[in-house]
Amino acid sequence: MKILVFDIGGTAIKYGLVSENFEILESHEISSAIDDEGTTAKSVLQNLDRVMTEYKGKYDVIGISTAGQVDFETGVIVYGSDNIPGFTGTDMRGIFESKYGVPVAVDNDVNCAGLGEAHFGAGRGSDYFICLTYGTGVGGAIYLNGDILRGAKSAAGEFGHMVTHAGGAQCTCGRKGCYEAYASCRALTDRVSEHFGRYVSGREIYEPQMLEDPFVQQAISDWEDEIVNGLVSLSYIFNPPLIVLGGGIMSEEQLVNNIRKKLINRVGINYQSVQLEKAQLRNKAGMLGAAYIAKERLDSLK
Ligand SMILES: [Zn+2]
Repeated sequence: MKILVFDIGGTAIKYGLVSENFEILESHEISSAIDDEGTTAKSVLQNLDRVMTEYKGKYDVIGISTAGQVDFETGVIVYGSDNIPGFTGTDMRGIFESKYGVPVAVDNDVNCAGLGEAHFGAGRGSDYFICLTYGTGVGGAIYLNGDILRGAKSAAGEFGHMVTHAGGAQCTCGRKGCYEAYASCRALTDRVSEHFGRYVSGREIYEPQMLEDPFVQQAISDWEDEIVNGLVSLSYIFNPPLIVLGGGIMSEEQLVNNIRKKLINRVGINYQSVQLEKAQLRNKAGMLGAAYIAKERLDSLK
């Protein structure tokens, strides 16, 4: 049994073949766009279709991890982000199950990453944790008793849109004061970039020379505080034994330690034993999570 998996983002689609034992046998990356026309729902579907055709006969089930909100029960994209225009309403499962005659499972990328970490990464052995990823925005997933807690409309765990600053900065969701407008990696890079008058990446901010700059030190410290603002609320809501922090920036030395120290200083005694771990699977989490839901779907149909 082999699983064809996809991890769809606004700029790139990762795909690969995964074995029954969740070993990634091969993986590749292509652009989400076609030619110069940018990424659209159409370009994403065409790219997927091309790979599915190319690999026809080599897989028994398809797993898809994608940006946007997904109705996990039906495999329909209920809300596509601005990164993929026209994606909202796309019946991913329906389109590809009828065309290729194999089961298809679809979930959003953060839920898939959460499942990947739960079974193969930082959450292994834990039956309860929350997971957050810090990138352009802030994504979240709640893992409870062996599964993702998905909510009434498969939209639970959108921690990026908790309000941490009522009436504050504009968020990409159209509302104001959301957590991700302050705590995402982009919030940090925007502030530093504005100061230097050019784009400065998250990686560059953590270069030794940059770290000597008092402005950069302050920006990082303030950003850590913003991250902790959200984690304090989540600690009181979930009282989680474990919080998994993902996104490329979390691999910076000391960042997770600093967040841990600040968090523990700001929560009551019953919340201080929380473990903070950085996500382990990096860019493989989505594909492994997609493989996991695909195998579950295949098993459920037996
Ligand atoms: Zn928002």
